[in-house]
Amino acid sequence: MNGELLMHEPMAKHTTYGIGGPALAYFHPANTDDLVLILKTAHENGIPVFFAGSGSNLLVSDDGFDGFVISLAKYFRKLEFIGKQVLVESGVMMGRLVRECISRKLSGVESLIGVPGTVGGAIKMNAGAYGHEISKSLEKLKVVTVTGDLKEYDRDEIDFGYRYSSLQDDEILISAIFEFEEGIPEKIQELKSIASESRKESQPLKFRSAGSVFKNPEGANSAGYYIDQAGLKGTRSGDAEISTKHANFFVNHGGASSEDIAELIRLAKITVREQFNIELELEIKTLGFPPRYFDA
Ligand SMILES: Cc1cc2nc3c(=O)[nH]c(=O)nc-3n(C[C@H](O)[C@H](O)[C@H](O)COP(=O)(O)OP(=O)(O)OC[C@H]3O[C@@H](n4cnc5c(N)ncnc54)[C@H](O)[C@@H]3O)c2cc1C
Repeated sequence: MNGELLMHEPMAKHTTYGIGGPALAYFHPANTDDLVLILKTAHENGIPVFFAGSGSNLLVSDDGFDGFVISLAKYFRKLEFIGKQVLVESGVMMGRLVRECISRKLSGVESLIGVPGTVGGAIKMNAGAYGHEISKSLEKLKVVTVTGDLKEYDRDEIDFGYRYSSLQDDEILISAIFEFEEGIPEKIQELKSIASESRKESQPLKFRSAGSVFKNPEGANSAGYYIDQAGLKGTRSGDAEISTKHANFFVNHGGASSEDIAELIRLAKITVREQFNIELELEIKTLGFPPRYFDA
């Protein structure tokens, strides 16, 4: 293998929460051959596999994960423009894609300025902000299956919804082709500024978090609204806190454990259910926990 293998690697180093025990092995494949080799090895030996981007939407258990974690964030970083089309490898950071599009006067992702993470993670999550979702400009996807086979999808073969894509959990996305629109530079700059100013005003960006913990429920009000109205802003469990600035962000003040965050998740679910008869559903992805661990 030409990439890197880190044995018993603490996942806290690879999540924006800064939380998470060791993975059996953490891989940075250097290319598709590496990736296929790792996947085949895992498959043949019955080792569970998890695909990570940059861990900005991820809560990992303090007990870690007894399997392989594979991230393309280090070596899958090709970004190639051909007119309005761009071929992007999954490890490219969203910020870079947004900046490169803006500098070419291409419109489609400027409202996603400030969404952390990789393009792979953004597509899997159908990341969105201020009225725009990443899937809107998508044309094609390339994945490797858990058995090591390459597959291509057209955009319309995949369902995308609110923070949802029908991409299978056992397929790792390696690259995508987007087609953006030629935009008006002033309009692009305006959308970008609105998004980044609103984000600074409303989100606790000084603290470690994984963004919004829960999806917004159907209806007019956000998950953060209900958690705030339930009086939970500022509630702490150990070093974890329901942010005083944005109630759907749970922040790590330094030494929070995964159990601290889990406690707050259960508390928010119970309180919002009791007070508003609303079921909150997790937006963040979780790894290494027993089934139904976050039920309340
Ligand atoms: C401060 C802050 C603000 C945020 N604001 C927003 C926001 O405005 N809008 C929004 O949508 N999100 C937001 N997020 C959440 C997060 O940034 C996004 O979900 C992001 O797209 C996740 O990318 P990632 O590379 O970190 O993925 P990870 O967190 O590593 O993984 C997320 C999911 O994607 C899967 N995945 C990752 N890479 C691949 C791949 N190559 N192939 C297959 N599956 C893969 C993982 O298995 C996991 O299920 C925010 C997070 C933070 C910390």
